[in-house]
Amino acid sequence: MDIKDTEISKHKSGLNFIETIIEEDLLSGKNGDLVYTRFPPEPNGYLHIGHAKAICLNFGLKEKYKGKCNLRFDDTNPTKEDVEYVDAIKEDIHWLGFDWDAEFYASDYFEQLYDWAIEIIKQGKAYVDNSTQEQISKMRGVPTEAGMESPYRNRSIAENIDLFQRMRNGEFPDGHCVLRAKIDMTSPNMHIRDPIMYRILHTEHHRTGNKWCIYPMYDYAHGQSDAIEGITHSICTLEFEVHRPLYDWFCETLKIHHPQQIEFARLNLTYTVMSKRKLLQLVQEGYVSGWDDPRMPTISGFRRRGYTPESIRNFAETVGVAKRDNIIDVSLLEFCVRADLNKKAPRTMAVLNPVKLIIDNYPEGKEEVLEAVNNPEDASMGCRKLTFTRELWIERDDFMENPPKKFFRLYPGGEVRLKYAYIIRCDSIVKNPDGTIAEIHCTYFPETKSGMAESNRKVKGTIHWVSINHARTAEVRLFDRLFSVPNPDDTEEGKTFIDNLNPNSLQIKDAFIEPSLLSEKPLSNYQFERLGYFCIDKDSTDTKLVFNRTVTLKDTWTKINAM
Ligand code: ATP
Ligand code: MG
Repeated sequence: MDIKDTEISKHKSGLNFIETIIEEDLLSGKNGDLVYTRFPPEPNGYLHIGHAKAICLNFGLKEKYKGKCNLRFDDTNPTKEDVEYVDAIKEDIHWLGFDWDAEFYASDYFEQLYDWAIEIIKQGKAYVDNSTQEQISKMRGVPTEAGMESPYRNRSIAENIDLFQRMRNGEFPDGHCVLRAKIDMTSPNMHIRDPIMYRILHTEHHRTGNKWCIYPMYDYAHGQSDAIEGITHSICTLEFEVHRPLYDWFCETLKIHHPQQIEFARLNLTYTVMSKRKLLQLVQEGYVSGWDDPRMPTISGFRRRGYTPESIRNFAETVGVAKRDNIIDVSLLEFCVRADLNKKAPRTMAVLNPVKLIIDNYPEGKEEVLEAVNNPEDASMGCRKLTFTRELWIERDDFMENPPKKFFRLYPGGEVRLKYAYIIRCDSIVKNPDGTIAEIHCTYFPETKSGMAESNRKVKGTIHWVSINHARTAEVRLFDRLFSVPNPDDTEEGKTFIDNLNPNSLQIKDAFIEPSLLSEKPLSNYQFERLGYFCIDKDSTDTKLVFNRTVTLKDTWTKINAM
């Protein structure tokens, strides 16, 4: 894992390697002055942060070069796809702040793809193969030795056309035969060894219904869809580099528009997995509450957790585009989230682990309304009112009966400032029968009120509080990493990534919050002073708010980066 690696991707000119290619193409006039990209998800799951990277890249190029970017659903695999995913994908892209010039589906092109397949057969460059799946993979062999030609490879063009039409007409059951491109069974690149173009699947498709029972394979559908849409730069991840000769072969064989495929490294993040198949397993087997569980690396999970679109876009920009695989430390993402929320999130006080504090010399029944700034980073966010009373909740952790040196919070005989209010001194404590602390008794000093001219008395610590009479209760969900190791896929023999799940990734607390929060809506972000950034979850009701901790205040990234 090397975080600094990513910086290599920025060329001296300030351009990444993809921008360099694009600018050269613009100079040479290869595509006129057009830059046309696409984002091509398969609607078989929700988008994750890796997809966000690809979205920012493709839509970012559109914005930078005043070009275009399509959203194309690569829906060639009807057994795994669903409209639920189509809708979620669109919502996520919009939420990130991007809009597509056109929305297409690979299935829109099934008729054209079929006609082109006939064209390739007519050129003598494709054939129907009745070998079984096992026979085909056996004949393909290994990269170091030439493969074996299928006994069906030299069928006549007429026979191939007839068989392919009958495949389409539904005359054969699933698996009976496939259409293969006739390229080169000796190539060291296995993808060139007569790749499959079509397979038979008598499965209903979420858009084309039962119209088709043959479906094109990814390699055949993808490049041709790019060509139909007039894409200039077809950007994909590194694993498709070995597919590129095939991408080029189809375009050249058909003599159609030929986009340039460019590969970049997938985004990988520590402490999570990034494959839809694995994320689906987490959902289906109940390890998380759904695709939008706030611990998931999905865009919808991050949204629910309180991440902002700007923080994700900024993260994608900071990571840059790399040419070789690497793993990015998740703390870089958290750093971006904090940086954005620090500017935007209003401050509020909440107590997660309460203990009662009583100010003995403060009159019973007295209430004082104090002013608190909503965001020290942004004066335009104004102030709010806080009510101060004799009995308060404070954090249990902010008091120690026998403190170590340098404990700057409250202890017997010690003094702290109550944020926005007064300096207090702890005089005595009352314990429960089990030895835990029930009440902390204090004295306050009226002349130390925050903001008063004479309040120049100094103490080392400031703690937060809420008034017991005014506080409302809320459920607070604290999240930790979903996995307990940086690379969950790195497992011992016989174990899977599931074995690396962190059993303590969710902790639920009953907290006390400022009453002003009750009127707020889901997804609103806050900083709970001294505790972290939180946002309101959709599980909230009119009477009870539920908060998700978005991220803690502590920042490990700058430390790592400074090393
Ligand atoms: P997964 O393996 O998670 O299912 P995928 O590549 O099969 O991902 P697609 O829906 O096919 O998912 O991906 C749509 C686009 O997003 C593709 O162009 C793909 O290259 C890109 N993409 C997917 N995962 C990542 C990633 N981790 N980093 C960057 N881009 C990604
Ligand atoms: Mg895919």
